[in-house]
Amino acid sequence: MEDGLGDVREADGGRMKVSGDHAVFNRVLLKLSGEALLGSEPYGIDPTVLARLAAEVKEAIELGVQMAVVVGGGNIFRGAGLADAGMDRVTGDHMGMLATVINSLALQDALERVGLFARVMSAIRINQVCEDYIRRRAIRHLEKGRVVVFASGTGNPFFTTDSAASLRAIEIGAELMIKATKVDGVFSADPVMHANARRYRHLTYDEVLDRRLNVMDLTAIVMCRDNNVPLRVYNMNRAGDLMRIIKGAGDVGTLVDNGDEA
Ligand code: UDP
Repeated sequence: MEDGLGDVREADGGRMKVSGDHAVFNRVLLKLSGEALLGSEPYGIDPTVLARLAAEVKEAIELGVQMAVVVGGGNIFRGAGLADAGMDRVTGDHMGMLATVINSLALQDALERVGLFARVMSAIRINQVCEDYIRRRAIRHLEKGRVVVFASGTGNPFFTTDSAASLRAIEIGAELMIKATKVDGVFSADPVMHANARRYRHLTYDEVLDRRLNVMDLTAIVMCRDNNVPLRVYNMNRAGDLMRIIKGAGDVGTLVDNGDEA
């Protein structure tokens, strides 16, 4: 089905390939936190990080994978932090969402500079700068091999971009959500603070909830669980790991899913 309409999962089913040299996913959603874009900069965006990410996304596109990206805004503004400093929370969240637009535009530019076609789609109407988010149009872009960068989170205050990533992954029928972090996956404790922290290779969403593991906020976890979207958490600083995930490697980072119930 090429018209972007109808049952996305059904449309994807026949096109999945399984091979060591090929992608095992047809459509994935990558979640990048704003902090991931900081790189070695104290504030804002490190262009070398963007260039590296763009090159990795290009490899995935060249394998035939449809790539959607959700970018956070924590490198610029977070609503909760602004509210702590006395600002109205909703205004702070609006600023946080606009921060994700800034990051998304920077990523779009980096993607175009490596020769890809990319479209920023915003959940808040800001249509002299980028497209509005329209699900069917997003799917059409993906089918044409364009990278879709979802900006402005969910478009609502009091949510996070992790929740936006879960929502968009479900809406577009992504077979996997990939969360880029600065550590090697999900750990039993903060691996930066605790040398004995153990990396989980596999967890169920219920285990994440029961053990209160810091993977994503609860809204995002529950949405992925209830809609059966698997999540792989990996270290974005390990070159080649994104491709390994896309080719189906099972030993990268941590996989979170519904286990045998899935
Ligand atoms: N935000 C929001 N609604 C959303 C997504 C994000 O209000 O659906 C705001 C919120 O203030 C948040 C900020 O945008 O703090 C940046 O997003 P997030 O903190 O998720 O970014 P990340 O931690 O991934 O960099």
